[in-house]
Amino acid sequence: MANKIRKLIIIGIDGGTFNVLNPLFQKGLLPNLNKFKNKLILESTIPPGTAVSWASFSTGNLPDKTNIYDFTIVSENSWKINFVNRKIAKGKKLWNYLDEAGLKSCFINLPLTYPVEEINGVMISGIDTPSKLSNYTYPKEIKEELNKIGYEIEVSGLKEKSEVSDEALAVLDKRIIIARKFLKENFDFFIVLFRGSDVVQHYAWGENQVEDAYKKIDKFIGEVQDYCGKNNADLMVISDHGEEKVNKAFNINSWLEKEGYLKTHIKKKNVLSYLGVNRERIFKILEKLQLQFLVRVIPRNIGKKIPTKQINFEEAIITKQIDFNQTKAIAKRAVKTAQIFISSEKRKGIVKKEEIKELKQEIKNKLKRFFEKEKLDVIIKTKEELYPNSENFAPDINLYFKEKGYDITASFSSNKGLWNNPREKATHNSEGILFTDINIKSKSQKIIDLAPTILKYFNIKKKNFDGESLI
Ligand SMILES: [Zn+2]
Repeated sequence: MANKIRKLIIIGIDGGTFNVLNPLFQKGLLPNLNKFKNKLILESTIPPGTAVSWASFSTGNLPDKTNIYDFTIVSENSWKINFVNRKIAKGKKLWNYLDEAGLKSCFINLPLTYPVEEINGVMISGIDTPSKLSNYTYPKEIKEELNKIGYEIEVSGLKEKSEVSDEALAVLDKRIIIARKFLKENFDFFIVLFRGSDVVQHYAWGENQVEDAYKKIDKFIGEVQDYCGKNNADLMVISDHGEEKVNKAFNINSWLEKEGYLKTHIKKKNVLSYLGVNRERIFKILEKLQLQFLVRVIPRNIGKKIPTKQINFEEAIITKQIDFNQTKAIAKRAVKTAQIFISSEKRKGIVKKEEIKELKQEIKNKLKRFFEKEKLDVIIKTKEELYPNSENFAPDINLYFKEKGYDITASFSSNKGLWNNPREKATHNSEGILFTDINIKSKSQKIIDLAPTILKYFNIKKKNFDGESLI
């Protein structure tokens, strides 16, 4: 029998990190967060991406079982790029287990909840929602209430860089209003994710807006702590990954090009003039393909009307900049991670089936030697090594920067240098947070442990997760 005596509330601080929290604690700025008995590190996934990590949160399983390796996935039989959403994420989800146990739950803004499921409770989908015109709420009627207060799912990708952080704080304010409203309703399990912290960290690391985002969230946490005291409820505050300042980025596609694995149509002359590719044109193509969601996850540091000096993997594929007659491998960037895909026969590429295994080892070994020489700490693993249970979509070779301050780029430009400036001030790392007053029994905590922990909390007995209960 499920335990219905106590309620469990989880507040997600996207990108919540000790790198930001510790200095703010020292200034005495986050009194409510600082109150928790346990302030622990929560290990994320590889890559420590928002979609990847929340899929693992919701299922209790690693990426090779959830099928989620980034916001976008590459088809195995072509270079078709797809966006992830709830339907692509494999495995039974936390809300399904809670539903079966007759518990009432409220999920607000979790990635990979679109399209929303009809659950016993409320579901408002998150970043994978195509647009506000989509049906992103269950029950349907509550959408009207959200519209009334000007609720937004994400900051628009069409904002200029200078506007993004303030906009993210405004979106956060509205989310807090909605969280507060639904918190008053009757439920057993409640979770809300605040994405504003992550957005401002990417764009304004070290600036006031980061402090502002945490202060807003801390104030709300204070309200929830009061609520818990009066309503037999427990609270956990978690993040999907940590975040760190980055200073330097390794351009994996420049490296593949230099080593002769990749050929583009981009000439060394001024890239600004080639094909007139600019953001606006790319957005139009994306819109036509109904891929508006990509607009949100492509770094927006160039602005919508200015021709771009560099394009990323998705844009290069969409605008046909890759010479697939001479390309054996191409990479996309996930946070601090290079995801390399082999241009196999299956993808209509030039690498024959029987050559794939050897090519993967060859690229892996060359990269290993390169980074040994550079004395930088990286994890380089093939699909089989890192994602042994994967069925499709997993990248063929994966390079994750453990080294602090380093990021990956996978951009194409006329400047073919191996080392670039990072496109953002900060990016994700694997050290997230777990704050709670609940007794934690385990010595190390991972994002995959949360689903088993939540089920144990409600006395729901389920097995066969990659993660383990922490309580
Ligand atoms: Zn995140």
